[in-house]
Amino acid sequence: MNKFHIRDSSPLVVAAIVVCALASVTGCGGGQASGKVKVTASIVPLADFCRNVGGELVEVETMVPPGASPHTFEPTSGQMKFLSESRVFVTNGLDLESWVTDIVRKVANPGMVNVVAAEAVPRSRLLKTEGLYDPHVWLDPSLAVYEVEAIRDGLIEADPAHEDEYSRNAADYVKKLETLDSQIKTVTSKFSSKDFVALHPVWTYFAARYGLRQAGVVEELPGKEPSAHDIAKLVDDIKALGIKVVFAEPQFGDKAAVVIAQEAGPGVVVRKLDPLGNPDNPDVSGYIELMRHDVAMMREALK
Ligand SMILES: [Zn+2]
Repeated sequence: MNKFHIRDSSPLVVAAIVVCALASVTGCGGGQASGKVKVTASIVPLADFCRNVGGELVEVETMVPPGASPHTFEPTSGQMKFLSESRVFVTNGLDLESWVTDIVRKVANPGMVNVVAAEAVPRSRLLKTEGLYDPHVWLDPSLAVYEVEAIRDGLIEADPAHEDEYSRNAADYVKKLETLDSQIKTVTSKFSSKDFVALHPVWTYFAARYGLRQAGVVEELPGKEPSAHDIAKLVDDIKALGIKVVFAEPQFGDKAAVVIAQEAGPGVVVRKLDPLGNPDNPDVSGYIELMRHDVAMMREALK
């Protein structure tokens, strides 16, 4: 069905579209019973971008479930099946999902369009942590725009008949991201405290965008427990800089963060910020809601 251009009004094509539409209950176009473009996205924010750009035209499956981390993840066999039927696979890249190379090789789906969304961000705007590009670009809405546009281009490549709709949806959503960006600028500019410690370097781009400082991290690589030396150094930094908060994450235990906050003194608290979101929780179900929620939590800690 995707091979026919709606704009092409020749009677044969119109007839084919009508037949296809009528047949859509029983399936039309290579086993796509719903008639929708199947899209697999690695993480919740990218899946949300896909739904905003694809609208009713797409069916999106997210691989990394709420509460899990993309840094340490294995897809299920059900997800591999959906991926084998997907026409677009959207990942972040920059080594966020180290398991992707392996599954793209395993899944027999040569026609699938691979969108590595963070690769659309200009190199000049990428930042490094520990000598490697930090992958958490989506947490800066002005960089998320590049990921949304990469997803738009991937959907158009897979389903060129609906180019206009994808382009329109993407433009509408980009406007919302621009509004979000200016709202966050306004809120963060009023923070009296600019420094914080994070569980892992997830807020690198966010801090750079809004004049905050991720002054230290508990774990350079998530899941890699800090040594006694690392903890002592971080506690010293927190005291020296007068840092008031350690931002933990729902995807990882906060034991080390709690220990560090306790050792740093009574004024230091641990607060959870969610870098990924959860479709089942209305507070953080979409990317824009998620960012608003996290900024409100930051405001409580840094105001
Ligand atoms: Zn991360």
